[in-house]
Amino acid sequence: MSWTGDPIWLADVLREAGLRVIEHEGWRERGHGDFADIRGVLCHHTAGGGANDWRIVQYGRPDLDGPLAQLVLERDGTYRVIAAGVCWHAGRGSWPGWPTDNANYHVIGIEAVSRGDGSDWTPVQLDAYKRGCAAILRRIGRDANDCVGHREYSSEGKIDPAGIDMDEFRTDVQAIIEREDAPMSAPEVQQIIDFISGFCGPIGSDVKDIREQLCGLEQRDRGQYKGWPQLDDRTVVDALADMISRMDKLERRLVPPSS
Ligand SMILES: [Zn+2]
Repeated sequence: MSWTGDPIWLADVLREAGLRVIEHEGWRERGHGDFADIRGVLCHHTAGGGANDWRIVQYGRPDLDGPLAQLVLERDGTYRVIAAGVCWHAGRGSWPGWPTDNANYHVIGIEAVSRGDGSDWTPVQLDAYKRGCAAILRRIGRDANDCVGHREYSSEGKIDPAGIDMDEFRTDVQAIIEREDAPMSAPEVQQIIDFISGFCGPIGSDVKDIREQLCGLEQRDRGQYKGWPQLDDRTVVDALADMISRMDKLERRLVPPSS
């Protein structure tokens, strides 16, 4: 399955992947014309790092009209959906399977908020970066080979996204794509059911106990929880949601459509 035309599904696809999404008013109509076929995702950093980086991406700068990318990824992992149409972000360059010096009409740009020296990525932002790329690539029927760093594509000396090893990034993105594609096996389902039923043991009156049982024992930075090692470092809610969505898919494959 490939996709031709504007990605009007961007917000839905990201939300379905469990990501936080802010839809900017008018995003479906914003852009410099219509997409041709969409072949991949180009990853950038904003080289700002502040809460207002999205303004330049949406409105442009003196030498270049906005929008400059379809998506902005905030440091807390939230995606801002800026535009569904073509954006000016790729510049000149090349990548196997992409048109040389003309990628804007064929790839979705993600501007991730960062100072641009590679030192300020947050774990939750990097996680959302990979999950977002995986969700888009699945939707357009491509794999992680079409998830590209601007510096890899550019013939103009771009350095973004600084500090991210794109080979490792692609490996992680591909693993997410494949995990989502695979229906859950019966032992996997049983493992999660056993875990959930096993862990409703005695809970004290302390709210913290309940929170820890749901989210994992350790808290990561700023309200992010580490999850449970038995659940692939996911919280109970995330593991359950994943299980239900993958069981639904399995059911759809097993049950022939009624005529
Ligand atoms: Zn860039």
